[in-house]
Order: sequence, then C-alpha cells, then structure tokens
Amino acid sequence: MAIRSKLVAGNWKMHGGTVQNRSLLTAILAETEGLNGTDVAVCVPYPYLPQAQSLLQGTHLSWGAQNLSQHEKGAYTGEVSAAMLVDFSCRYVIVGHSERRALYGEDSHTVALKFKAAQAAGLMPILCIGETLDQREAGITEHIVAEQLDAVTKLMGVNALVKSVLAYEPVWAIGTGKTATPDQAQEVHAFIRSRIAAYSPEVATGLKILYGGSVKANNAAELFARPDIDGGLIGGASLIADEFIAICCAA
Ligand code: PGA
Repeated sequence: MAIRSKLVAGNWKMHGGTVQNRSLLTAILAETEGLNGTDVAVCVPYPYLPQAQSLLQGTHLSWGAQNLSQHEKGAYTGEVSAAMLVDFSCRYVIVGHSERRALYGEDSHTVALKFKAAQAAGLMPILCIGETLDQREAGITEHIVAEQLDAVTKLMGVNALVKSVLAYEPVWAIGTGKTATPDQAQEVHAFIRSRIAAYSPEVATGLKILYGGSVKANNAAELFARPDIDGGLIGGASLIADEFIAICCAA
C-alpha cells in the first residue's frame, strides 16, 4: 500500500495584511522545517500572492489561492485565471469551498469546471466537499458528498484525482468551533475513499483527503491519527502562528 504523506494547508480566507503576513509566514517557515515529510501550504488572498512568492520561493512551504475562474481569459471583470496563479508560482488552489458554494452560488458543475481549469494550468486543486447540518440531520451526508465528488469525476474521469487533494469539510464545523469527532470525520473519509476505490483502487489509495472544520492545536493530532485523514485544511487557526505550527507538528 502506498504511504500517503500528510498535508496541512492554511486557508486564510479574507484576512491578512502585508505586515501581519510577513510575521506569520516568517514564524511558520522557521518552525515547520523538516517535519517528517509533512507538506505545509498557505492559501492566501490574491493580492498577497507576490508577497507569498517572494517570502516562500525556494523554501519548504507552498502557497496557493482560494478560488479561480473557470474561464481561461476574457471579459470577466473581477475574476482571476489559473494562468495568473501559475504566474505567481502557486502550487495549490482551493475549489468549491462551502463559502463559495453558499455565498457565491457555485454549484457542483461550476466547481468541476474550476477544477478542470486549475489542472489544465498545472495547479493542484484542493476540492472541498461537505454537508450542511440540515443535510447531516436528514441522514444524507453520503449522498451530498457523493454528488459533489461525482460532478468532478464525471467531467474529468477518476484518474484526474491523482493530481488533486480532497478536503472533507462539514459545513456545520467550519468556523463554529464544533469539530467533527475523529470518528465522524473518519467515517466520511472512508466513504469517500471507498467510492473512488470502486473505480480505481490505486487512485483511492494515493489520494490525500484532508479534514477541515475547526481544526485546532488541541484536536489535530487525534483527527490526523485516523487512517483516512491525511492532514487538514485550516481556517481560523491558520492565522495564529503558534496554533498553525502546532497543527503542522501534529500531522
Ligand atoms: P475553520 O475553517 O478552520 O475556521 O473552521 C476551515 C475552512 O473553512 O477551510
């Protein structure tokens, strides 16, 4: 069985400023070197990509964005293309974050098109999937994550997942302080992996599936110890150097 290395990715959302970013990134850089093969990345707001690039180029940290356009170029005011992210040496881009789905009306097909645009440019999409509290309480969690995942595999084929990362993020756990228990998270991660394994056991075995939703320094180790949890996508705690470093160390 292939051994999956862990990935801890920060999702800064709409936070930051050049002064804070510099001290945050400097601290993370200094404290996360040589972490037993764990990869560390930060997904920053677009305007800070040049800053991330200049501080992180040639280091062990990767950087990326939180969204992109599904279009290559053209009259799309306010949008940012995959090629532009590549221009700043991004490695990752988050696609289908639940905030994009809920607040900006991105449906699973649009998310799949963004996934495709990212890969076409050579970026590694971090595809977010997850259910709301109502959906969990209605017992349709698996149905929801399957629909979100299938939109991508139907468009791209299951082998496209090789050059991607998944993030299971139950919406009810994001920014709420209500983390899924390690058992709850593991159960959905195992479901996702088995669904992919039905098409390709190799792809399923190699795929990193991150957990996201109120991961903190005090719950990360327990989550990351589960067999199908390959690291985390970290929101709030990625803005606090000590917290984020401790989460990276727990992976
Ligand atoms: P949180 O956010 O860690 O603040 O819950 C996670 C995310 O939205 O990716």
